[in-house]
Amino acid sequence: MIRKEGEEIVIPTAVIKRLPKYHRHLSKLIRKGVEKISSKDFGQIVGVSAPQLRQDLNHFGNFGQQGYGYNIEKLYNELSKVMGIEKKSNMVLVGVGNLGQALINSTDFKRRGFYLSAAFDINPRLVGMMINGIKVRDIETIENYIRENDINIAIITVPEEAAQKLADRMIDAGVKGIWNFAPVDLKVPKGVSVENEHLTEGLLRLSFKVKDDKK
Ligand code: ATP
Repeated sequence: MIRKEGEEIVIPTAVIKRLPKYHRHLSKLIRKGVEKISSKDFGQIVGVSAPQLRQDLNHFGNFGQQGYGYNIEKLYNELSKVMGIEKKSNMVLVGVGNLGQALINSTDFKRRGFYLSAAFDINPRLVGMMINGIKVRDIETIENYIRENDINIAIITVPEEAAQKLADRMIDAGVKGIWNFAPVDLKVPKGVSVENEHLTEGLLRLSFKVKDDKK
């Protein structure tokens, strides 16, 4: 649900799913120095029809002007607001295995306003290590860290059996969003959001699509 000038409006999930893609392409256009774009051209870039694009964006206000198109920077700023990324998010990561370390080493988050400030693990050999400027801390200190550092998002890269219990602990400490890479569908209470990234499911979908071409 998104509030707009005191009024509550419901944005369809399908639209919300498309917003990050629109946002990413707008960011690219800004970097290229493009100032405006028609719904037809932008639709082509993002792979949706012009009417669909206009319908999607109309949920958030009247950005397009007849005969002018969209002001790219204005639209980018508005979508940033809609997605809540004009405000910075503080994140922690739990589980500093191969995947956890790859995410810690990714530089893309900061550019988008997501600050990873600490990582946590149960393995004493990892605790105390610095990875890409991020300190690995003892998992037993995570609740305090979340409370004291205004953490609102947690990234989970622990094995399946540890994920739900850790999610519950972090939610009790104040986390509002979980980006979950553990192969389990986490249960979260109302008011908390979870995005499950089941990486091998993507590979299985791909396998299904290429199965007839396999030797
Ligand atoms: P990946 O699956 O990311 O490639 P991996 O194979 O190196 O990692 P996993 O066994 O999946 O290792 O564990 C990922 C990390 O999660 C490890 O560093 C492990 O110590 C940590 N971990 C496991 N259980 C917990 C827990 N309860 N709390 C915190 N960290 C944990």
